[in-house]
Amino acid sequence: MSRESFEALQEKIRAVGAELQGCMKEEVPSLFEKKRWVGRIMERVMQDEEFKVRLFRFVDVLPSLKSDDLVVRVLNEYFSARDLDAPPIIKRGLERLSKGGVSSFVAARIARSGVAALGRQFIAGSDPASCGKTMEALRTEGVDLSIDLLGETVVSDREAKDYRERYIELLDYLRARRTGMSRIRPERKTGSFGISLKISSFYSQLDPMDWERSLENTLNGLRPVVDSAIEAGIPLTFDMEHYHLKDLTIALFKRILEEYPDFPLAGIALQAYLRDTAHDLMGIVEWAEKSRIRILVRLVKGAYWDYEVAVSRQKGWPIPTFLDKGDTDRNYETLTKLVLENARYVYPAFATHNMRSISHAIAAADALNVPGDAFEFQMLFGMAEPLRRALLKRGNRVTVYTPVGEFIPGMAYLIRRLLENSSDESFLRKSFFENRPLDELIQPPKPAGVKEKEGPPGLFRNEPPADFSVASNRQEMMFALRTVKAQLGSRFPLSVAGMEVFTQGEIVSRNPARPDEIIGIMSSGGGEEADTAVDDARKTFESWEKTDPDERAGYLFRAAAEMRKQRFELAALEIYETGKTWKDADGDITEAIDYLEYYGREMMRLGRKRRLGDYPGEGNEYSYVPRGVGVVISPWNFPLAIPTGMVSASIVAGNCVIFKPSGFSPVTGWKLFEIFNRSGLPKGVLQFLTGPGGGVGEHLVTHRDIDFIAFTGSRETGLRIVRLAGETRPGQRNVKKVIAEMGGKNAVIIDETADLDEAVRGVLESALVYQGQKCSACSRVIVVGHVYDQFTPRLRDAIESIRIGPPEDPGSFMGPVVDITAKEKVEEYIELGRREGVPILIREEKGLYVGPALFEGISPDSRLARQEIFGPVIVLLRAQDLDEALEIANGTSYALTGGLFSRSPGNIMKTRRDFRVGNLYINRKITGALVGRQPFGGFGMSGVGSKAGGPDYLLQFMNPKSISENTMRRGFTPEVRQ
Ligand code: NAD
Repeated sequence: MSRESFEALQEKIRAVGAELQGCMKEEVPSLFEKKRWVGRIMERVMQDEEFKVRLFRFVDVLPSLKSDDLVVRVLNEYFSARDLDAPPIIKRGLERLSKGGVSSFVAARIARSGVAALGRQFIAGSDPASCGKTMEALRTEGVDLSIDLLGETVVSDREAKDYRERYIELLDYLRARRTGMSRIRPERKTGSFGISLKISSFYSQLDPMDWERSLENTLNGLRPVVDSAIEAGIPLTFDMEHYHLKDLTIALFKRILEEYPDFPLAGIALQAYLRDTAHDLMGIVEWAEKSRIRILVRLVKGAYWDYEVAVSRQKGWPIPTFLDKGDTDRNYETLTKLVLENARYVYPAFATHNMRSISHAIAAADALNVPGDAFEFQMLFGMAEPLRRALLKRGNRVTVYTPVGEFIPGMAYLIRRLLENSSDESFLRKSFFENRPLDELIQPPKPAGVKEKEGPPGLFRNEPPADFSVASNRQEMMFALRTVKAQLGSRFPLSVAGMEVFTQGEIVSRNPARPDEIIGIMSSGGGEEADTAVDDARKTFESWEKTDPDERAGYLFRAAAEMRKQRFELAALEIYETGKTWKDADGDITEAIDYLEYYGREMMRLGRKRRLGDYPGEGNEYSYVPRGVGVVISPWNFPLAIPTGMVSASIVAGNCVIFKPSGFSPVTGWKLFEIFNRSGLPKGVLQFLTGPGGGVGEHLVTHRDIDFIAFTGSRETGLRIVRLAGETRPGQRNVKKVIAEMGGKNAVIIDETADLDEAVRGVLESALVYQGQKCSACSRVIVVGHVYDQFTPRLRDAIESIRIGPPEDPGSFMGPVVDITAKEKVEEYIELGRREGVPILIREEKGLYVGPALFEGISPDSRLARQEIFGPVIVLLRAQDLDEALEIANGTSYALTGGLFSRSPGNIMKTRRDFRVGNLYINRKITGALVGRQPFGGFGMSGVGSKAGGPDYLLQFMNPKSISENTMRRGFTPEVRQ
């Protein structure tokens, strides 16, 4: 744009801004009216960050609190008058409460009515009928309405169906009122009602990873709504939700319109905070032009900024949004221009409360000769009313986005609005709360171009999981699945003393999803091979222990690089060999890479000799030396990550090691050996020996020259190894060190303040991913008080809705168990459940698939509630209160993982202290520990040893050594550097 036209545009923007401001006079949006309670609370929120956080958290939990006593308790926990500079109204109330001046009945009523007032500010009513008057009043003002049905996160098919029915009821309701209510815009054939919908509410298993099925099933859910909408002549707009659903939402939008080309003005929201949006917008414009379907494009800034940034940072993915508000505002203007330039094909709807963005849109439309009725503005219910009225006054079209729904499901919406209004960046705050001058408010956006900071070089970062919402990642995985399948069935040797050895004995590895499919035929060694391997390891140890720790770490880093290159092939192999689903297999590979990167760095840290004390004439040094020769015995359920962790820790610490993988995952084990070989690791440092656990495994454990055993597996085997290793053999030089990670019987507690959307999803993930075959899996769910009756049917429906099928199918949530013995064992427990308790749900499955089973009425002392099952069996237990829940949870001999879903600060504090587990997770799933972030491992009968992926882990593979030298010679004490 030339300087002159830029100046002319700015001039016009200023003029429009002044005009709007003139129309608004001194009007203040209702949200900021200080004479109202809501206005006073918002004032406080904007001045006090700590209060804001507590208030939002309290508002979030309040609707789910059933009893008055509970309301008062939680209120006290959030706003204890002692440590908080609370507003006088709250403080006085709390003080009176603590002195017993007010009954909990009164206090709870005050709290509820206060939050209800906040709710009424942003939510028009609990159902369409209850907001008829509100809607009518808005329409009399001259605005159109786009109704958003608030709802819980859909976790089951039943909930998706309920949601769909609510949409249809809403459409019926609107159709009945349409004629009476649409007289204000007779020229608008589409009527003055619209509906905004969220695609995530139409299919409970929606996941872009399972692209085609997600599209198909969401379409199936949508069709009846679209049919009703067409019949009622009511337009639909697709809201844009989280980034990972964006491409799917756009694809779905196009598909539905291709099927219903006559649909009246369908719309889609696009978010200006996303870097991709200009590209997406142009794609949509081209599509609209080609298919001759006129659509509405709602341009929003984006409501999930915090979420997108946090999730991307947590996962290590590129952040899809701009990092600075100025960049988003600038992008909004770029998109405004683009959408106006294409107003022949799309109908622009500018959804913003920002006077600069609004003035810019009007000025840009003017400059492009787009008539005033060819675009509109959209504003949220309960916000920016003066701006809305000013726009109406100057003849612009305005639609009010009007949320309707119950309070609990609406809470997420409410919190987003509160956050938005009170953030430092909020235009409404600057304009109406801080009363900044017009000139400042309509300044052009100042993009700061903020980029994500890179950490210091060499810093450990978790390997990002594959983002399967990205098409290229899905394609790579599909390709890897085909490539690996074509290579299945080969023969593999042992590697002993640097030689590949094919043996007579064999272990046949099979695909649990299709047991006839052979993954590989693995050589199987015995005592002879084991003895040769140990002898060779002893010899190699002499040179390997002298290798510089940094150099040893280098082999791990090279192995990590090699794994990264093969990540999709490795994941594909796990899918075939051990029945892991896509994400779970991918997670195992990234965890393996993490161990290599983390332990490499840890060894570089620990490899530096430490000087202790500072005394003249004395040099004290503390360092670590390797233990010698070890054996690594691993399970099959994390076929790459667990052995990688144990092997890499052993060798980087300077030991030589013989690796015996599980008989169910030997081919994946061999891949690990090959990767280390490719890293250039000297021969003999790592040897590969498969064979029966009780044969070659036990031979190695009891071998005189084995100095340590790193084991992960069942409690039974672990305890046997501990016992065998405790016996000293003739000629043995070391007391054997045993590191044993064993099983768990893990519980998740759900208290009366829990967010049930999160709790259902958390339990589903923790208990059923990988068919419950994780040491960390949840198998007991302890629900406190009345929540039991709400939670149980939701969990049952959610379990009923998940897909069980071949793991290579990206839509399978669960695959088969590892073999027939595992299936029989799980089925025995299911039988026990039928005898001792009440089955809520048992899904029957064929082959090696075992349907998930959910039981209640089981005694906490029953075998079902105490023994590790290693399958998809969940026992639901009731508890009166948190104390009882913790007592049940702690009532087994295991102590591995545990979880709590709660929004009560008091309960969270107590659980942190009293839940006896190695890994406690709060308000999240209890599986999927990350290296360096959630070091993993239990105590009790769950294991001996310190946590994998934590700062103490490597120490177990070394002996500490202390050297003290008298540096004084004939009375002189020069500074001597070691
Ligand atoms: P498992 O005990 O049957 O086998 C583990 C390994 O030990 C295998 O390599 C096996 O061949 C070997 N083995 C068996 N008997 C042996 C013996 N007498 N001497 C030496 N080695 C022997 O366990 P699994 O079925 O492979 O794995 C599932 C178990 O592992 C579950 O109990 C699970 O909770 C546990 N696990 C624990 C962790 C953890 O970190 N705590 C992680 C994964 C799995």
